[in-house]
Amino acid sequence: MLDLRGIHKSFGTNEVLKGVDLVVRTGEVVVILGPSGSGKSTLLRTVNHLEKVDRGHVSVDGDLVGYRRSGDKLYELKERDILKQRTHIGFVFQNFNLFPHLTALENVVEAPIAAQRRPAAQARAEARELLARVGLADKEDAYPRHLSGGQQQRVAIARALALKPKLLLFDEPTSALDPELVGEVLDVIKDLARGGTTMVVVTHEVGFAREVADTVVFMDDGLIVEQGPPSQVLDDPRQPRTRSFLSKVL
Ligand code: ATP
Ligand code: MG
Repeated sequence: MLDLRGIHKSFGTNEVLKGVDLVVRTGEVVVILGPSGSGKSTLLRTVNHLEKVDRGHVSVDGDLVGYRRSGDKLYELKERDILKQRTHIGFVFQNFNLFPHLTALENVVEAPIAAQRRPAAQARAEARELLARVGLADKEDAYPRHLSGGQQQRVAIARALALKPKLLLFDEPTSALDPELVGEVLDVIKDLARGGTTMVVVTHEVGFAREVADTVVFMDDGLIVEQGPPSQVLDDPRQPRTRSFLSKVL
């Protein structure tokens, strides 16, 4: 489904990704852990071409992200085609990024109508179902400022799902939340995981990783240091750097 090969990325002289390889299978839940600055967000952003890679390639279902191949040359896609590709890859950010002037329902229907040109009535009906699925059936007319952080993040998840993405990416979806609101958002993500949604989640919630991840990936200093099932990476890490990180967060 998702294939990251030899991903390199620098900002100026700072090499942030130093050759990352990662494969995510359909229906798989991958949780990425790692210290601050290890390149987790940058890696996630390369998946939908928010960050251009310097070397290596990203493909989703066999299609290169951000480029097309012609003979042995790669050409970057036009902005319009990049945006179209992004509609297949849902992205949920740390800070929700809802449109403040739109209600919960309007936030969810905006992209299906504007980007996918779906009929408005159908998009609204589906958006209502999605809001119900994330436990917000009674909040469809509320503006983001009248919602708690946990509720806003659940709207953001419904909004990502509205495009029926092949793949969902989460970048620290609960780290901006008050502790008592973390659980409600993780519960929604767990529910999606059980439903077979393919996802990559960057988080510091080790308990969540243990419960829902098929694969835990530990990144440090621009590289994947170790990956495997949670029982191995979290409970019996092979690499000293993984051990040292876990001893600090657990
Ligand atoms: P955190 O856990 O704090 O979110 P992270 O693992 O997500 O960290 P990244 O945000 O990917 O780390 O950043 C990795 C490195 O890349 C950092 O040194 C950061 O300063 C640098 N970096 C990220 N984005 C940019 C940018 N747009 N311009 C310059 N440097 C950047
Ligand atoms: Mg980050």
